Amino acid sequence: MERGAGNLIAEGKAEINAPKGVFFNPEMEFCRDLSVLVIRAALAGKAIRAVDATAGSGIRAIRYAKECEGAVGELFLVDLNPSAVKAAESNLARNNVKGNVVESSFARFANSAYAKGGFGLIEIDPFGTPVPFLYDACRISRDGTLLSVTATDTAVLCGAHPKACLKNYQAKPLNPFMCHEVGARILLGKIARTASEFNYGLKPLLTLSHRHYFKIFVLFEEGAEKAVASIKELGYLAHCNKCFNSVSVKGVANNLPTKCGRCGEQFEYAGPLWLGKLHDGEMLKKIIALNERRNAEIDKVVSLMLEEERMPAFYFELHRITERLKINAVSPSAVMLELKRNGFAASPTHFQTNSIKTDGTIRDVEAAVRKAGKKTYK
Ligand SMILES: [Zn+2]
Repeated sequence: MERGAGNLIAEGKAEINAPKGVFFNPEMEFCRDLSVLVIRAALAGKAIRAVDATAGSGIRAIRYAKECEGAVGELFLVDLNPSAVKAAESNLARNNVKGNVVESSFARFANSAYAKGGFGLIEIDPFGTPVPFLYDACRISRDGTLLSVTATDTAVLCGAHPKACLKNYQAKPLNPFMCHEVGARILLGKIARTASEFNYGLKPLLTLSHRHYFKIFVLFEEGAEKAVASIKELGYLAHCNKCFNSVSVKGVANNLPTKCGRCGEQFEYAGPLWLGKLHDGEMLKKIIALNERRNAEIDKVVSLMLEEERMPAFYFELHRITERLKINAVSPSAVMLELKRNGFAASPTHFQTNSIKTDGTIRDVEAAVRKAGKKTYK
């Protein structure tokens, strides 16, 4: 982001004015840069009908229209705030982008004549939880709609306020263990349950946990079988807070063990949550190829996603393991090397530094940690 003359802000190919009282968050530039690449990768040239449910200054809608290679056709920007509507209108004109700015709640918009025929791209980027927007987003979706959802209520999804998580997401979070991936999967689970009521299954393209927010892109696939298949990806995680053993079990009703099979401690649990894939590997490769400006942070994060995409759900936090084993810190790459030598798959994860994903168990990880701790790697 660059501050231009007056109050003008330059970001990507857009130049906007965000007067006082109109929502614009400069800290989300990385998120918007990545979103542009996802939409280009998924929808370039398709000229779909697009709506930004929480338009604010119009920055996202304008960037999507200017930077996504013809992905966006007819464009709608919705906001309840009259100052935002005014700012969005003048920002569209300033950027030479055609769009319809509608002063309305998203719920009223979704039931209006504007929404007839549905949308191929729906952007939900609110302050706080996206839950109040999900039903209306599903109402105006169709087969193949790309839903782009931001959640900034990470404290809720990551377990700092379990009652709020229960109320908003009907799910139990886990804190502090693996809380970022658990939180993202609770959000995906909520989207899957809502979409299923409208006869859609989910295909997640990219699931991002970054700083204080989650950003999730899912494709809607229409049909009862697709919806049921998505619901079958829901389940629970049982986690031992004492020895870090964990088990995840798919199924809305399932036989989740109550006690840790390794140490006998009572399991903590989280869920219901999404236990299916978080990313689409082909999509991630396309995004890396499209990142011509070589945004280093995007390259780093999406490359990590590409590695974790092939791995099982959840991860092992090495600092907790070494602390419990009372040994010195070990490097994640050394632990991964030991695991691979023993025939396991292993990768880092974008959810948490100093953590690894593997198809091995906690026993296998502890053995690798001990071995890595004794060796000097060059
Ligand atoms: Zn245990």
